[in-house]
Amino acid sequence: MNEACAAASAAACAAGTSFAAWTLQIAAADDAILNTHLSAADLSHFAQVLHEREAQLRREILERRQRAANERFTQVASEAPDVEDAALADLVGDLNNAELERDVDELREIEAALGRIEAGSYGICLQCGNPIPRERLEAFPAARYDVRHQEEHEQQLGSAQPPSL
Ligand SMILES: [Zn+2]
Repeated sequence: MNEACAAASAAACAAGTSFAAWTLQIAAADDAILNTHLSAADLSHFAQVLHEREAQLRREILERRQRAANERFTQVASEAPDVEDAALADLVGDLNNAELERDVDELREIEAALGRIEAGSYGICLQCGNPIPRERLEAFPAARYDVRHQEEHEQQLGSAQPPSL
């Protein structure tokens, strides 16, 4: 009784106000929670970490986009001062910025991890279904795989291919 009912209230207590709504939602759908090694408070913690990183990445991406667009504008304007505004906009829109791409990739990973928290499959290796150790999640909150299968996927995919969602 105590443990079974504690999930909802513990989640609410641990989450404070900002994450209370969705943690309660998760606790309510407890048959969807597949993992057993993470408590509702753990999930709330990782969701908070992921949300903070998500916000930080969104800011970074906007800044990088702005900076890259400015650099590109300066470059194009000096090379071809007569370039039409439309053509310039195309060039600026077609930014190839490695740092920007990394941020966007990480943001996708973060959003996928938040989706797994909602779905109740967070912290479970997508390959073998084994729990991903808490320490690994602390280091890589968006981890999809345990260490063994992370290495296998990196070998299979190489670094060129974007993660499939
Ligand atoms: Zn695995």
